[in-house]
Amino acid sequence: MITNIWEEFLDIVRQEAGSRVVETWFKAVQLKNWDAAQKTVYLQAPNAFVRNWLAGKYTILIQITLARLLHVDELKVHFLVGQKEEVDTTVAKACYLPVVTKKSRLPAAIPSKSNGYLNKQYLFENFVVGPSNSLAYAAAQAVAEKPGTVYNPLFMYGGSGLGKTHLLHAIGNAIKQNHPQLAVLYQTADRFVNEFINAIRFDKVHRFKAKYQNVDVLLIDDIQFISNKDQTQEAFFHIFNILHETHKQIIFSSDMVPQNLKGIAERLRSRMAWGLVTDIYIPKLETKVAILKKKAHANNEILSDEVAHFIANMVDSNIRELEGAFIRVIAFAALTKQSMSLTLAQKVLLNKKPDHKRPVDFAVIVSSVTKYYSYSLQELQSKSRSKDISHARHIIMFLMKKFTDKSLRDIGLFLGGRDHSTVMHAYNKIENAIEQDAHFAQKVRAIEQDIAC
Ligand code: ADP
Ligand code: MG
Repeated sequence: MITNIWEEFLDIVRQEAGSRVVETWFKAVQLKNWDAAQKTVYLQAPNAFVRNWLAGKYTILIQITLARLLHVDELKVHFLVGQKEEVDTTVAKACYLPVVTKKSRLPAAIPSKSNGYLNKQYLFENFVVGPSNSLAYAAAQAVAEKPGTVYNPLFMYGGSGLGKTHLLHAIGNAIKQNHPQLAVLYQTADRFVNEFINAIRFDKVHRFKAKYQNVDVLLIDDIQFISNKDQTQEAFFHIFNILHETHKQIIFSSDMVPQNLKGIAERLRSRMAWGLVTDIYIPKLETKVAILKKKAHANNEILSDEVAHFIANMVDSNIRELEGAFIRVIAFAALTKQSMSLTLAQKVLLNKKPDHKRPVDFAVIVSSVTKYYSYSLQELQSKSRSKDISHARHIIMFLMKKFTDKSLRDIGLFLGGRDHSTVMHAYNKIENAIEQDAHFAQKVRAIEQDIAC
């Protein structure tokens, strides 16, 4: 019976997520046991990579589909890796709406505020240092040791996927550990902007400023996203001045040097360069190999020199891509129960078809959202203001603004001739709900995954 259920489950996932996802990932997992008394499903993953990948992207889909197939209202999912039981325990209702996760130990989409939004996985210890990032690393360590005294602000810039976010969290985590009395806050610039917009809307600018002015260490990721947001820049300018005057540490990451940041006021740009400005660039082969080896070691995988060199040579763009290539090889090895040889790595990476990512247009977004909210396009475009339809419509507006470069006006027109301020309002509303409600955030993430597939 269990085998049938798993086959049925795979069929559904194939429709929902595509056959490539099933062949590469889900087929590497087995439904080990179904404990009806405890309403618990045991899934056996071949290694932590596969488990993390699936749990990160498909938790909701796994939960709701299995609960429906097993005819229960809610169930727990335990992942087993090797012989060990993994920490993940999730409970979900068997219907599409709402998905209730009573107890989830997966990394939260939005880390708890008491934690200063820090991701505990990003540490100095698991960051590999090479010529491409050694200056940034040394500066980050110096700042973590003596916040507010050496380089203030510290400004790190470089291309995507090169480790800026990792270093920012590493600084925050190290300060939390070495100086537990200090208040550390990590924030991405786009979340900062949205928080500010909401503060204006709900008349809470005072509270907003107080929140940021009272920290000891402020880490702002991707500061380029405050460009052209004049009011936010104004608010940030004052926060910056207060923090700097009181010797609180400020750290920025960005995709370019302060002076090249377009749409950011000169007085702010010059302040960003007051301390130390340091770059991170694409690593050379040796560093890439060292990163692969470290990642393999951390996951108890054995990676030979020749395979590591091969993968490192295949990826020139950035470390995120490098990780992706490595994970594909590991997943394939687990799936086919082979060890990680050069031949196998070649098969996976050389045969990889060019990424024909679906262009994200309105149709893709509507199709993904309507998998989770069962309304027709006509209903979504209609004048209906029923709470549920409006909610689904707001999510669509949010995703259209996020994933396409269409104007607010175009989005509004498509969704029943609504005006741009309605779309902006919807965007803020959903952004806010994501901030406030981890379950909802998880659901939106699942839809976003679907759009990306
Ligand atoms: P960025 O913020 O520059 O776009 P990230 O910090 O998100 O990049 O890094 C992308 C991925 O690469 C992360 O998983 C990160 O842990 C990893 N990574 C980047 N640089 C290193 C490094 N030097 N050592 C280990 N992992 C790294
Ligand atoms: Mg980043």
